[in-house]
Amino acid sequence: MLTLIEKIIFVFLSLGSAYFAYLTAERIYRIVRRGAGAVGLDELVKRAINATIIFVSQKTVLKKRFLPSLAHAFVAWGFTYYLLVNIADGLRAFFGFTLPDENNIVSNLYRLGADLLSLGVLVGMVALLLRRVTVGRKVFAYREGVKVHPKAINGIKHDSLIVGLFILFHVGWRFLGESFHLAEKGIDTWQPFASLLSLVWETLPTDTLILMQHIGFWCAIGSILLFVPYFLYSKHIHIFFAPINYLLKPKRLSIGQLDKINFDDESLSEFGATRLEHLSQAQIIDAYSCIMCNRCQDACPAYETGKVLSPAALEINKRYYLNEFGGEFAKGKESAPLLEFAISEEAVWACTACGACVEVCPVGNEPMRDILEIRRALTLNENNFPQQLQQAYKGMERQGNPWSVAPETRLDWAKGLNVPTIEQNAEPEILWWVGCAPATDARAQKTAQAFAKILNAAGVNFAVLGKMERCSGDSARRAGNDALFFELATGNVETLNEVKPKRIVTTCPHCLHTLANEYPAFGGNYTVIHHTQLIDELYAQGKLKTNPNKGSNVAFHDPCYLGRHNGVYDSPRQALARAGVAVSELPRHHANSFCCGAGGGQMWKEEEHGTERVNENRFKEAMKVGKDTLAVGCPFCMVMMTDAGKNLKSEIQVKDVAEIVAESLE
Ligand code: SF4
Ligand code: SF4
Repeated sequence: MLTLIEKIIFVFLSLGSAYFAYLTAERIYRIVRRGAGAVGLDELVKRAINATIIFVSQKTVLKKRFLPSLAHAFVAWGFTYYLLVNIADGLRAFFGFTLPDENNIVSNLYRLGADLLSLGVLVGMVALLLRRVTVGRKVFAYREGVKVHPKAINGIKHDSLIVGLFILFHVGWRFLGESFHLAEKGIDTWQPFASLLSLVWETLPTDTLILMQHIGFWCAIGSILLFVPYFLYSKHIHIFFAPINYLLKPKRLSIGQLDKINFDDESLSEFGATRLEHLSQAQIIDAYSCIMCNRCQDACPAYETGKVLSPAALEINKRYYLNEFGGEFAKGKESAPLLEFAISEEAVWACTACGACVEVCPVGNEPMRDILEIRRALTLNENNFPQQLQQAYKGMERQGNPWSVAPETRLDWAKGLNVPTIEQNAEPEILWWVGCAPATDARAQKTAQAFAKILNAAGVNFAVLGKMERCSGDSARRAGNDALFFELATGNVETLNEVKPKRIVTTCPHCLHTLANEYPAFGGNYTVIHHTQLIDELYAQGKLKTNPNKGSNVAFHDPCYLGRHNGVYDSPRQALARAGVAVSELPRHHANSFCCGAGGGQMWKEEEHGTERVNENRFKEAMKVGKDTLAVGCPFCMVMMTDAGKNLKSEIQVKDVAEIVAESLE
């Protein structure tokens, strides 16, 4: 029990701590509220369960860097449990309240949890601090040329050190205090580690043991009270904001689904994000959730190939800006332009919109979304975009495809094949959305021809739109030209709604993504699948004959917009396996796949300056695996991988899954 003087000090400190914490929390609330739009509040119970599962399982953290993540998990679990421990210790010290010590399973388990997790936190924290000062030097560095807030480099290090030492101090003293308590009262089998330590003090006089328990209490609980206001200001606020981020993220059909801009609304004069307040509330929460772990930077194909884009630095810069100017911002002052403090223009155009940063982030941040919003602002407000894109835009505007092929010739690839148009077969089971590349690009046309053979071999009742089909608008949208996307999407949805397709199959993951996830906002709700999914289905229905030959060796490259953005991983692999080929994995595969370099409109422009081309970085993996063929499921990947193979003078053939399946049928 505390003395009266101690109790007065405790109350005084608690009130002071709560007051300063309130001031910071209230300021952060006003900062977040300055963001555009609303946070997601639908299905709150489901969201709360999801956020709790993510927090308790630490599954998003454990996806990468397993050992440090495990150490982090022990710290997170232990620190959370310590909320309970601190309350129980406070009640014991203040009112003499104790849980029954013996023969009460709840009380016993509580003490066992506190004991085990104390040790878990201490070991985990020491491991994390050691990592920071050893390999951490490399992991937490940024390439020259990346825009990083000048205070961030040292700030992150100091912040980690302060919080790490505080956790060691707080948990260490609580553990010590408990060991002094057990030395006085006798060992407790439900607290094995504290009991073991208590043996060291068992010869000390009782007065000394009581004094040490008081010191232990003040070091453990008192340090928390002193630390709370700083805690909210530090990057460790992610303990609260990571679950909040998962709780309030707007619901989306896919990680890459962008919000619609209604260009029919004439009151709109500015688009995208030029300043912090133009980002959504969820995007501002991202800054407070960021652990500054650089996992997204490691996964980013642009950073990996030497460009000046670091998605981590973007979030960190937002946070450091808010630490510095958050007070004024909360009061309504406009922020500085994002291009001044958050990210450089060169970095903005280096993004391939691959989604790797979103997929890998342990706290649910979406740096890609910020970048695409900034592109929208540059393109739509300032007409400022890489000029090579102009050619593709003109083609999409005038001919309905970025290759500028006349719509009348859009079905030339199908000459000599049985490919009915919707006029010839008005009620098909499957409407095949061919896509611009398979319809117009000489190499990709072979994919379309192979798929037509497969559909006919399986007796599928299908039709294509022919010259009525126009570009889905994916490249325009990812490159920031949402006005062009709006026009294309509106026209395509009108066409499709007249046709009323039962199911749509696309030969391009970018079309799949756009039609399935982004056309609903335009009134187009369809069941859309990728051609590898349909092939897999046809095999399963026995409409295609499985080939037992396991002769040829194929490695499969997961297209970002098929895998990460739309969760289709198994179908292409199963289709290949059923076609009789042995499928190998590239080192980076499934959700961890590496971009081909064409997404985000990069297909139509030169890459930003770096140390390597993205497609060559990826193709080198295929060369290391050493298979005859690299299988792809996307016409953009086909172009990029074929080019990389030529540049690297490789013999590896690049083929679409449909081509390999069609060959096996022959
Ligand atoms: S979307 Fe891909 S390229 Fe863009 S920032 Fe994220 S990881 Fe990097
Ligand atoms: S955005 Fe996510 S992955 Fe990137 S540094 Fe922050 S917490 Fe880590």
